[in-house]
Amino acid sequence: MSKFWSPLVNDLVPYVPGEQPKVANLVKLNTNESPFGPSPKVIEAIQAELNDSLRLYPDPEGDSLRQTIATYHGVDPQQVFLGNGSDEVLAHIFYGLFQHGEPILFPDVTYSFYPVYCGLYGIDSRQIPLTDDFEIDPADYCGSNGGVIFPNPNAPTGRYLALTHIEKILDANPDRVVVVDEAYIDFGGTSAITLVDRYPNLLVTQTLSKSRALAGLRVGFAVGHPDLIEALNRVKNSFNSYPLDRLALAGAKAAYEDESWFRECCQSVITERQRVTQALEQQGFEVLPSMANFVLTRHPDKSGDYLASGLREKGIIVRHFNKPRISEHLRITIGTASQNDALIDGLSSL
Ligand code: PMP
Repeated sequence: MSKFWSPLVNDLVPYVPGEQPKVANLVKLNTNESPFGPSPKVIEAIQAELNDSLRLYPDPEGDSLRQTIATYHGVDPQQVFLGNGSDEVLAHIFYGLFQHGEPILFPDVTYSFYPVYCGLYGIDSRQIPLTDDFEIDPADYCGSNGGVIFPNPNAPTGRYLALTHIEKILDANPDRVVVVDEAYIDFGGTSAITLVDRYPNLLVTQTLSKSRALAGLRVGFAVGHPDLIEALNRVKNSFNSYPLDRLALAGAKAAYEDESWFRECCQSVITERQRVTQALEQQGFEVLPSMANFVLTRHPDKSGDYLASGLREKGIIVRHFNKPRISEHLRITIGTASQNDALIDGLSSL
């Protein structure tokens, strides 16, 4: 606290990002990045962009990338909004679409940035416990509210909600925006983008950080009705007109132009997720069924803290949350086959 701080900052409880280690050679399974590099076409596109044009501002609307994403998802470019990672897109959503004086609804447990945005913008929230099986019950999201947001699959549980259930939530909230945060949708789920033309209250966010291996480039987007996109553009243009730089725009576009690379990487994560799940279960772990690039798991006899620090001593980092319902769990990102082998071996000796 300092006399120079504005009162709001005084009360802020910021998000704590997962560790980005400063030393090399760790098996890094803690922040759900892709274990594979981006497509070589992405690197080529970024290299081609390293020229005199860097002295010029980028296209503030990112038209070319928006067109690519729109075509990929079968929507109109007017239905696409780009941001510096989906975190920034989400920040603009909270500011532009969730300020209705009523509490917004999101699950407990979920992505820890949601309460942070509520704190930043003074938005009330009601956090709704997951079921005993760590699932979202759509019936819990049908009462009066200022908006609804949840990840699908949820994070850090990995549990997936079928589109029929999402439709129930959308039908019950015709006057409020329902945001489906699809950071992990490419690892087995079906995107709710297929519903946007039927639901003007639906906004879907996605990221290139996970399935397209571009966490370092910071590109995310939202898809929804043009009225919702217009609200986000107003917020963006009152904050930072150029959220995506020239390299990010070029690299992200190229990522969509290498579908086979994308599919192979996703399939490999899905296959390895199944193998890791089985191996952990053989060691007595309980593993939640996951449709993401990570699993949430616990051992009935070994504490989460003990396991996380034991792995760390072996050079393997995973995520351990000090949160009520999941304090005994580990969230483990699915890595390459050899990283996963190291994890399985490491846990077996703890
Ligand atoms: N939503 C969820 C559920 C996430 O786990 C993450 C990654 N931390 C994000 C959004 C943000 O991803 P990014 O900003 O890298 O697009």
